[in-house]
Amino acid sequence: MSSVAAAASRPTNFRYERGLHWPAPDLWLDPELRKPLAFVSHGHSDHCRPHRQAVATPATAVFYRQRTRRRDVIELPFGQPHQFGQYELELFPAGHILGSAQAQVRGPDGQTVVYTGDFRLKHGPAVEPCEVRRCDVLVMECTYGQPHYRFPAVEAVADELHDCVSRCLESGRTPLVLAYALGKGQEALALLTNAGFEVLVQEQIYTVAQQYERLGVPLGDYALLSPETVQDIRNKVILAPPHRRRSDPLVGRLKRVQSFFLSGWAADPAARYRFGADYLLPLSDHADCTDLLSYVEQAQPRVVYTVHGDGTFAGILRSQGIPAYHLPDNAYQPGLFDEPVASTSA
Ligand SMILES: [Zn+2]
Repeated sequence: MSSVAAAASRPTNFRYERGLHWPAPDLWLDPELRKPLAFVSHGHSDHCRPHRQAVATPATAVFYRQRTRRRDVIELPFGQPHQFGQYELELFPAGHILGSAQAQVRGPDGQTVVYTGDFRLKHGPAVEPCEVRRCDVLVMECTYGQPHYRFPAVEAVADELHDCVSRCLESGRTPLVLAYALGKGQEALALLTNAGFEVLVQEQIYTVAQQYERLGVPLGDYALLSPETVQDIRNKVILAPPHRRRSDPLVGRLKRVQSFFLSGWAADPAARYRFGADYLLPLSDHADCTDLLSYVEQAQPRVVYTVHGDGTFAGILRSQGIPAYHLPDNAYQPGLFDEPVASTSA
């Protein structure tokens, strides 16, 4: 192989333009804009653009099709490699929401790039456990890359939620648990039903919960919050997305409510005022700063590129002697990664 051909086929020669891109097979990973061929890491709306053809796990394909109305998806289960031109793409669990995937891209020279997408190292209650793979280049999501973000174990948050909700019910008020409709809502539901609470679920979270169950994730006994069930909410917990707290016709009319918002932002001192909830509990579906470090230790990449967050985490890695660079949102950096690679094939 000539040195030019070798360089062109290195998987480490991707570029970043609001998404990772390999020009030869024209393959994108999580682009922010619509593309001809793109891997979609998970079903959250900021990752679901209506691409001509998407690549996703079967669970993500369900959420993607629903959001975009696009049907053309290459469904790639975890651990089943698929060839795109000279590159092999393999997906493995990210632990973020059901079906969320990391992508490993392997070139003909055997070098690998891993892109984490949104991920969580701690094991959540309704999601596949996150895997860590060794790689040459790591592109990692660092939303909570500042040192003060340290989330407790999910079990500890579950205990805290149990205590808060129990005290609220004992005081004769109605606990309103607020969690995002896809992912956190189903995790909150699993935690509440596991703890034996009767839960009435707002329609958006309920619809996704039904999809989770069809995809093989049981979430316990719960009922839809409806004009009928809302008539008797004694000793029941209401579960709703935060943005429907006022606008939902049933949730908005609840009286004597105490609200509990489940979010990683709970670690921010000002968050309680920002989100307007009575209590914030630090249940996150992202990795905290400690977990980000642990991930890099296990993956042992030669170089790390960070996305999302403010770049603090790349600095932390550099202070430990690990080559690391932050890719700001909206960056357009063609050819930035044409690094000379000391590989045996060069
Ligand atoms: Zn997400």
